Amino acid sequence: MKSSSNRIALSCLAAVLVLVSACEPGSRNATTMDTGLPLSEGLQAYDVLRYTLRNEILVDREAIAGSASVRFAALRDMDTLELDFDGTFHIDSIDGPGGTLDHEATESKLFIKLGETVPAGETREVTVRYRGKPVVAKRPPWDGGFQWAETPSGKPWIATSFQGEGCDIWWPCKDHPSDEPDGVDLHITVPGDLTVASNGVLVGVTDEPDGRKTFHWQTNVPTNLYGIALNIGPYELIEGTHTSTNGTEIPLAFWAIEDHADDARKLFDTEMNEMVAFFEKFAGPYPWGQEKLGIAETPHLGMEHQTINAYGNEFKRDKYGFDWLLHHELAHEWFGNLVSASDYADLWIHEGFGAYMQPVYTQEVMGDAAFHARMYEAYLGIRACNPVAPRGEFSDDRLHGDEGPGGDIYGRGAWTLHSLRYLMGDEPFWESVRVLLYDTPDPETLEPPIAARHRTTDDYLEITSTIAGRDLSWFFEVYFRSTAVPELVARQEGADVVLEWKTEDDLPFDMPVPVRRSGEVVRVEFSSNTARLAGLSIAEVQIDPFMQVLRKLPSLPTCAEREAEAKKAES
Ligand SMILES: [Zn+2]
Repeated sequence: MKSSSNRIALSCLAAVLVLVSACEPGSRNATTMDTGLPLSEGLQAYDVLRYTLRNEILVDREAIAGSASVRFAALRDMDTLELDFDGTFHIDSIDGPGGTLDHEATESKLFIKLGETVPAGETREVTVRYRGKPVVAKRPPWDGGFQWAETPSGKPWIATSFQGEGCDIWWPCKDHPSDEPDGVDLHITVPGDLTVASNGVLVGVTDEPDGRKTFHWQTNVPTNLYGIALNIGPYELIEGTHTSTNGTEIPLAFWAIEDHADDARKLFDTEMNEMVAFFEKFAGPYPWGQEKLGIAETPHLGMEHQTINAYGNEFKRDKYGFDWLLHHELAHEWFGNLVSASDYADLWIHEGFGAYMQPVYTQEVMGDAAFHARMYEAYLGIRACNPVAPRGEFSDDRLHGDEGPGGDIYGRGAWTLHSLRYLMGDEPFWESVRVLLYDTPDPETLEPPIAARHRTTDDYLEITSTIAGRDLSWFFEVYFRSTAVPELVARQEGADVVLEWKTEDDLPFDMPVPVRRSGEVVRVEFSSNTARLAGLSIAEVQIDPFMQVLRKLPSLPTCAEREAEAKKAES
């Protein structure tokens, strides 16, 4: 295995030496093209403190050249630094504090001999100089990489997105969501007529002797690795501010390509402040107010890049009256960036909350009818082929493969949260959201820098159970950990209506349900999965009139039915 891997890597290296070319994305191995794979021993040996990237963007060749410095703290004695890195890049040199370091490169890894045993607790920095052609995004942002596009006026327009592939397609890094750097510096050199929009704050722009420009961006908060991004183009900058609920004056910035500056200004003027105010009302203060809230127009649809969200929705308002994409990406500054999953098995924390916030905003600006319509659309998309929050370690590919929830982390995640909101009640539910995000129910008292944190599904179980004052394991087992959507069966037993929850493996599930009878909606509590409505006939009751509880209705196909339907359509 290893020798054949090395052969592929060597043939690519040879091609790079001739000219920065060759090595099509197809030659990358699965490890490079996936992210969040179980951590090897070597990757567990250290904690990344900071990445410093110095890249020239060679637009004509669709290539990059430069260096990446990795500052790390040893968690155990270590003499080798293992990094994930696309083996098709050519390594020029690797240096540590004592000079040049030896290394071994495979198709997807760099093993750097540190020339000493670094004791646990000590920090070091190594710098890798490299060049090559990074993975070209096939279908960004879903199949990501570097996207080399052109604006309508024919100028270069470049964007990165790699949520599914990870940082190692761009620089040598520890490609796992559990290890966010405490900060990142990006020194990016581009042709003089282009602008680089990236994470954090712009420290400065240097004019190079050859007419190019180097933009130095710096962020000093923990950053989700897939949240680090380059956006390069003939940008116009639209600026404003938003006064946060914690008093911070947040700089708002939108980099739009010249062709779309007017559309962008309209969107910026009508929606930005309102959306930020909405998130601050329901969730809490914008987490990165000391840096900025940034949007960069991209040639792909969008991605939640921290403080520099990618936006490519062409300034369209959807049928609910606002730009859902802008709203969705902004939601991720809280759900995904402030609070992040440390394993992709818990990625519903990013997308379930992220997707639930658009219906909630719809209700705020359009009312109940639009809210319910949006939720029902999401309901009909639920596949229920695997649990929303599977147990075990999941890389991105596994999450979206046969064993994972795939797209259910969005709509089914949102519906699960909607059901939890009914169970807990509005105020306790939003309190649980704030504790998940900030570790306090009163985040308005927090001043920047607001601490980012990793959270798991079990963390949220603990938070909600504490706030509810009782163990909610039964709710999480059925809604997050089981494959099947529970079904509520109603039957007539003499003069009574009996309601019974049918769950996977007969799991206990005493989920209360709203029932309308005689024009009044009451909350019906369950015991041993059943409830009895005395002296009523089935015709007299309406179960869950406002769809507040996720359950299997006849309109929702099962996973098997969907798969059979898909097969029929193929043949
Ligand atoms: Zn999302």
